[in-house]
Amino acid sequence: MKKHNFSAGPAILPAPVLKEAGKAAANYQGMGLSLLELSHRGPEFTAIIEEANALMKEIMGLPDDYHVLWLSGGASTQFFMAPMNLLNSDETAAYVDSGTWANKAIKEAKSFGNVTVLASSKEQNYTFIPKGYKIPKDVKYLHLTSNNTIFGTQMHKFPKSPVPLVCDMSSDFLSRPVDPKPFGLIYAGAQKNLGPAGTTVVIVREDMLGTVQRHLPSMVDYRTFVKENSLYNTPPVFPIYVSLLTLRWIKKNGGLKGMQRRNKTKAAILYQEIDRNPLFKGTTAVEDRSLMNVCFVMEEKYAALEKEFLKETEAHGMVGLKGHRSVGGFRASIYNAMPKSSVQALVDLMADFAKRKG
Ligand SMILES: *Cc1c(COP(=O)(O)O)cnc(C)c1O
Repeated sequence: MKKHNFSAGPAILPAPVLKEAGKAAANYQGMGLSLLELSHRGPEFTAIIEEANALMKEIMGLPDDYHVLWLSGGASTQFFMAPMNLLNSDETAAYVDSGTWANKAIKEAKSFGNVTVLASSKEQNYTFIPKGYKIPKDVKYLHLTSNNTIFGTQMHKFPKSPVPLVCDMSSDFLSRPVDPKPFGLIYAGAQKNLGPAGTTVVIVREDMLGTVQRHLPSMVDYRTFVKENSLYNTPPVFPIYVSLLTLRWIKKNGGLKGMQRRNKTKAAILYQEIDRNPLFKGTTAVEDRSLMNVCFVMEEKYAALEKEFLKETEAHGMVGLKGHRSVGGFRASIYNAMPKSSVQALVDLMADFAKRKG
C-alpha cells in the first residue's frame, strides 16, 4: 500500500517524478546505462543541467543577473558559505532569529563578521515570526528564514529592505510566487520541496559576488560554480536530475501560482480541522501559520491520548507525523507534492478520533 508521507525531510516527491527517476536509475533513455553511471561531462548530463537552470529561471522569473548553482553540503553549509562570500570581517550583517535553523545561521555568521540580530522569537519558543523591526541601512545584507520547518511558521510577507535579502528558503522553496528582485541570495536544500537529499540550490545575484577581501578556497567560492556552471568538480548528478523532473512537474501543474493554489487549499483543510476539533490545537500565531509544516498538539485535557492518536495514524498508513522534540505533538509536512487526498485522510481520522474519544 502506498503510504501517506508527512515527513519533514527528506520528504514526499511527486509520484510521476519517482517513476521517471526509477527508470533513469535502471536504464537512462534506453541507452543501456544507468544515469548513475554516466559522466557529468557527457552530453546527457550537460542537457540535464542546462534544462534545470533554464527551467528554474523561467519558473521563478529570475532576471538575467541571477545565477542558479547546484551545490552540495546541505543548507547547513550555506549558513557559513553565505557570510564567508558576502561579509568582510569589519562589516555587519543583520539576521532575524525566527527558529532553530535561523539560530544556526547566526552562529555560523559570527565567524566571518559582525552580526546584529534585529529580532527574535526564541523566548516564546519561536511561535511567531518577528515583525516591525527597523533594518539599518549600513548592514551588508539581511538574512531571513522564509519558513521555519520545525516550528511551523512562515513569512507570508517579506519586509521592505534597504539592503539585499539573503534567505534560507529550504522548506518553502518553489511553493508560491516570490518576487526575486529584493533577494541577493536564496538557498534551499533540495530534500524538502524539490528533490532528494544531496544537492542545495543557490540563487545568487551577480552584484553580490566579489566584494570580500578574504581568500576563498575554490570549493567554497560561489564564483567557482558560476564560472564552471556548477561543474567545477563532480556535482550531485542524480539529485540534480530528480530536481529537474520536479521542475518539469511544477511547470506542468501551473507553475508557482499553481503550487500556491494547491498549498493554500491543503493547509486550509487541515487548519480548519485543528481549529474545529475539540481534541487538538495549533501551536503558532494564526497569522504566521506555515502552509508547508502544520504543527499541532492535543488540548491539555486530552494530552494522554497523544501516543494513541499517533499509533492510529500509523495504522492508517500515515508516516512522519510525530512532532519535532522541541514542539512535541504532531507535525504534518504537506509540501508541494503532498496530494489533497492525503491531507483529507488525516483530517477524516482526526474527526473520527474526536467522535470516539471526545
Ligand atoms: C532542513 C533545513 C535546513 C538544514 O538542511 P540540511 O540540508 O540538512 O543542511 C536548513 N534550513 C531549513 C529552513 C531547513 O528546513
